[in-house]
Amino acid sequence: MIFGTTYKVVYEHTRPLDAEIRARLDSIDVSLSMFNKSSVLARVNRNQAVAVDTFFAEVFSLAKRIAGETGGAFDPTVAPLVNAWGFGFKEGTLPDVEEVDSLRCLVGYEKVSLRGRAVEKADSCMMLDFGAIAKGYGVDAVAARLHAEGGENYMAEIGGDIVARGRNAGGKRWRIAVSRPVEGSGNVSAADHQTVLAVSDMALATSGNYRNFYYKDGKKYAHTINPVSGQPVQHDLLSASVFAPTCAEADAYATAFMVMGAEEARRFLASHPNLMAYLICAGTGDSMEIWHSPSLDSLIVR
Ligand code: AMP
Ligand code: MG
Repeated sequence: MIFGTTYKVVYEHTRPLDAEIRARLDSIDVSLSMFNKSSVLARVNRNQAVAVDTFFAEVFSLAKRIAGETGGAFDPTVAPLVNAWGFGFKEGTLPDVEEVDSLRCLVGYEKVSLRGRAVEKADSCMMLDFGAIAKGYGVDAVAARLHAEGGENYMAEIGGDIVARGRNAGGKRWRIAVSRPVEGSGNVSAADHQTVLAVSDMALATSGNYRNFYYKDGKKYAHTINPVSGQPVQHDLLSASVFAPTCAEADAYATAFMVMGAEEARRFLASHPNLMAYLICAGTGDSMEIWHSPSLDSLIVR
């Protein structure tokens, strides 16, 4: 387990690497997890004096870069709002307008920085949340380990974030399914698959509002928060799968796209040719509307 979720690694090395992979993921969990009360992240959030490790420093810089690029749609300082809406590590009830307004003042990636190994915050009540980037980063770390050991064919996955290199055991590109964004779908059978892609030498991650959500008074509240409005995201984009050079980037951009919505995400993609996406929107009734980057055409198996 890492970040409270499962992982899977398939590789061809003759020397077993499972113990090393597990140790590496444990160190990443101890650095970045918000589920682990003694993680570096948790200590930073409690304003304890702590020198951050390399994993933390790398994710912090990358998160700030992507926050800037996405105009704050992805923002690692969104934690106070995530907690208030009940998806963080604290129990939350629905916050009222005044509470959301006061918490919004604590959110803003430009108000946190790293000085040496110390995190500096403009307000001590600010908190970090790497939940939208850390899984992808963990996958990159596993892939880097396998690559360093001379591996050419492997697949690493944490909670749906994936790096696939080379070929699978059958000598083909890795078959990766994108789930149909249906509430409660378990992604266990082919019927739950919206599409299947043949993937090689790529990282991908999916964000969606169909697994982690709750209903209150007939209204749906999902786990992606718009850092600007302070509200849980509510629009017709049901899931965003992003293909990027690294899995940490795929993870962060997928979350950013959920905040932006399909139209803005497509505009963003038009000026970022290193990214590709598969977007699933709610259509009329129970129907769904798909848009994907034209360059994904050649990967779609069914
Ligand atoms: P993901 O599944 O990668 O989309 O990440 C969702 C998690 O990221 C949520 O459970 C929150 O902890 C956190 N989060 C929610 N909204 C945002 C946001 N706008 N920017 C960054 N992280 C967010
Ligand atoms: Mg993400």
